[in-house]
Amino acid sequence: MKAVFGERQNRHAPSRYLRYGNVGDYPESPERVKRLIEGATKAGLELIAPRAFALDHIAEVHTPRYLDFLQNGFAQWAALPGAHAEMVPSVRPVEAPAEYPRHILGRAGWHIMDFAGAVTADTWDSALTSAFAALTAADLVLAGAPAAYALCRPPGHHAYAERAGGFCYLNNAAIAAQYLRRAHARVAVLDVDVHHGNGTQAIFYARADVLTVSIHADPAHYYPFFYGYADQRGSGAGEGCNLNLPVPVKGGDEVWQQALGAALERIRAFAPGALVVALGLDAHEADPLAGGGVTTAGFAEMARMIAAAAEMPAVLVQEGGYLTPVLADNLATFLRVFAARA
Ligand SMILES: [Zn+2]
Repeated sequence: MKAVFGERQNRHAPSRYLRYGNVGDYPESPERVKRLIEGATKAGLELIAPRAFALDHIAEVHTPRYLDFLQNGFAQWAALPGAHAEMVPSVRPVEAPAEYPRHILGRAGWHIMDFAGAVTADTWDSALTSAFAALTAADLVLAGAPAAYALCRPPGHHAYAERAGGFCYLNNAAIAAQYLRRAHARVAVLDVDVHHGNGTQAIFYARADVLTVSIHADPAHYYPFFYGYADQRGSGAGEGCNLNLPVPVKGGDEVWQQALGAALERIRAFAPGALVVALGLDAHEADPLAGGGVTTAGFAEMARMIAAAAEMPAVLVQEGGYLTPVLADNLATFLRVFAARA
């Protein structure tokens, strides 16, 4: 089994994170990659670099003006007198009607939904390479590999068609799912990150060809707060093709495995040709974001459950999972199960 990662993914490194009004260190740090590579290596995966893809594959998921903002917006920002090295919004549109603005401060407000979506001079390069990692892993699976792992950093599942936030810029899991649709009539995305995959939900919300399932800490008490509720089930043709399984904050192994059982039942009924696992490891009990209460043994059982129930080829896409002494072990635990069948 192969792991895909490109060095350029580590250039993006914002310095500031807002927690309860305090400015602190940005948890989604390049240091994460060292530990994730260590985890992939421990599981016996071969590390390869992503190849480049046409932007068209990314534009199937993200809007042209958003891609232009990510690619060129920072240069406009940097031309503002005294602009900080990290572009963050200071004003956001909240009510319709709202007009798409020309000024970069307005565009930043339109395209960045929270303080955890800073754009630096390197963000586009890193986010694009991260998306290429997801596409390369999807390509491996389309070529016959039973599973492949994309070490995506920055992560992607909070990114909307035209909105960054929650450390995410391009929605790698959605881009991989869309790419897999080339060969499969139906694709499912299973998101086990401790946070709801709100961007992924929104991207496919009205579609019947991509099932989105997310297990996450109850948004009534946890980020992303506005999305991830059980009654958000999809719309139009996509009605019933979005399944949210919120669990109590710090719920622990048993409630996560129970929710996973329900998730896998829904996925089996949907009968997808391929599966994308949005693999957040931040549900671990030691994670600094402290929302899941899952143990390392719990992750192993979750991986076994997924591998046993979902026999279709799988693309594992890294989402969250922050610095803990066991981050590498948690990833290795998960990947070993899939490597064994590859
Ligand atoms: Zn997360």
